[in-house]
Amino acid sequence: MEAAHSFTQRVAAELAPHTPLLPCCRRSLVEGLALVTTTPGSIATTRPVAVRAAMQALHADAIPAHVSRVVAARRTQYLLVGVDPAGLHPPSERSCCRRSRLRGAFLGAGRLVRPDGEPYLEIGCADEAGAAQLVADFASLGVNSRTRRRRGRWVVTVRSGPAVGAALSSIGAQDGRLTFEAGRVIREVRSGVNRRLNAETANLHRTAAAGVRQLESIALLEADAKRWQALPPALREAAGLRARHPDDDLAQLAERAGCSKPAMAGRLHRLVAAAGEGGDRVGARR
Ligand SMILES: [Zn+2]
Repeated sequence: MEAAHSFTQRVAAELAPHTPLLPCCRRSLVEGLALVTTTPGSIATTRPVAVRAAMQALHADAIPAHVSRVVAARRTQYLLVGVDPAGLHPPSERSCCRRSRLRGAFLGAGRLVRPDGEPYLEIGCADEAGAAQLVADFASLGVNSRTRRRRGRWVVTVRSGPAVGAALSSIGAQDGRLTFEAGRVIREVRSGVNRRLNAETANLHRTAAAGVRQLESIALLEADAKRWQALPPALREAAGLRARHPDDDLAQLAERAGCSKPAMAGRLHRLVAAAGEGGDRVGARR
């Protein structure tokens, strides 16, 4: 949670100082912030860095906006005063503006969740129309996203590592993307290594457990001369080889016996089964 928080803050800090160069994009940045504002008819956010970026964009066009701090019970809101969100319509469909709008929305309400786990990027929106606009913006930039309803709020989510990386680039967070990708590579390598180690450990455990069972069975059969003599010669040979070479794997035992691996596996299996049957009989006799 802490990591997610600080990563989001880093991306916001990277994005905020850049006032878009074109007037159309500056307007779209403010529009993006409006799309994620939950209070109707206003532009507000809990992030001072976001509202300051929007204010600077407006100032670049000589619109005298200012920021008003509204102390609320839960979280302090920063209100952008001097601009009517209704005046930002219709939304621009130029790709420069789509990036800018997404950037404004991310600054206002975007989060990167679990950058150290299976990551996703999400932006909480004011309403369904706003969420749909952001999904369309992402789509036109080649980033797959979708809307979800969560606790009465519309949220745009970008899932999968590659899509999150593309989303960060598309809003201009190059440093953020590099940090994110480095973390992703480390995580993927680590999980691959862990998976392999776990599989190998499990195999070793299985092999060792089987070897112990075989040796126990052989000892049991050898202790009973009658049963031992009743075993087929091939099984007695396999038992002797196993007892003399407890650390051999199946292939090595098969080679010593001059038979195939499946044949050796079958013989060892029958030895264990024979010992088990004997045990049952002993138990039944008691
Ligand atoms: Zn533009």
